[in-house]
Amino acid sequence: MDASTRAASTIIEAEEVVLPGGELKKGPVYVSIVQDTITDITSTRPPTVKDVIKTHLLTPGFIDLHIHGLGGTNDVIDFWSNPGYTLSRLPMGGTTSCLATIVLPKSSSQPNTLQLFDKLKDVIGRTDTGGAVLEGINAEVIGIKPSLGHDKEASESEILDALRLSKEPMHITHLFNVCSFHHRLPGLVNIGLASVYPNLPEYTDIIPPTFEVIGDLAHVHPLTLSVLLEARGYESVCFITDSIYHSNQPGETISYNGRQLIVSSDCKTMLLKGTNTLAGSCVSMLDIFHNLVNTLNVPIPQAVRMLAENPAKVASLKGLGSIAIDSRADMLLFDKDLILTATMVAGNTVWKK
Ligand SMILES: [Zn+2]
Repeated sequence: MDASTRAASTIIEAEEVVLPGGELKKGPVYVSIVQDTITDITSTRPPTVKDVIKTHLLTPGFIDLHIHGLGGTNDVIDFWSNPGYTLSRLPMGGTTSCLATIVLPKSSSQPNTLQLFDKLKDVIGRTDTGGAVLEGINAEVIGIKPSLGHDKEASESEILDALRLSKEPMHITHLFNVCSFHHRLPGLVNIGLASVYPNLPEYTDIIPPTFEVIGDLAHVHPLTLSVLLEARGYESVCFITDSIYHSNQPGETISYNGRQLIVSSDCKTMLLKGTNTLAGSCVSMLDIFHNLVNTLNVPIPQAVRMLAENPAKVASLKGLGSIAIDSRADMLLFDKDLILTATMVAGNTVWKK
């Protein structure tokens, strides 16, 4: 007996549901779950319902492609060596899946790195930890999926040559940060902002890259994000946290590879101690959702698309990032004020307000 022919174990009744492609379906809408899978989405109340959870808004869980961990050891560089700490804290911030961002040392065959990969291997893909799901590793600097970033030194032709190396779209890491823009000498930002390239020989056969951008409103100014969304629309942008910590204590300090970082006064970013240099973010995907809707005037379903559906596509995470039949039941329940009230991973409620 396959999942679709069994009686649903849980039904969620929502006033509004975000469906794939940025569609908002108004309700009531009934989403049926059998074990860890969404099996039905309908406007008519299914008969013989055992367990009904009511909510105002239902969205897919958010997928963070770029997060350095939230703690659990003494130094940011080791946070992912204790994955349980970070994974257990992500659902309260709306994240149901993530890639562990690891800054690789010069030689990736160093014993510490190999030990870390070994440890993470046992956790990757597990939906039974009671927290978010670690879907894979995002190695900063050396991309496992080919990616570009930190291009301060690269010329236009070097970037175009790099883009030509892959038959699939490449991925740009945190667009704008450590990337250059110039009106005569294009850098990664120019490439990222364009969806159609000029009819010039050097641009033939270039596949537009996908990209991610930090949504804490500190690493990139809201006006710049508005320009980006105006230029690229909502189909190809993935928002990320690039988080290295969460704190509600301004002035708290942590170490990052021998340097001291301090929590900013608004608890949104980490600064290099004694300077105003940004060293990472402290926001959750939920904070970014609120930023997109409240500050950047992005419609709710399109904001969700850039936090769930687009990241799933970029990271080739099949059956994730959408409320659709046969997708894994990773979902977020919100009240009418967009307050997160519950987070579900693989059909189980892993966090509740
Ligand atoms: Zn990073």
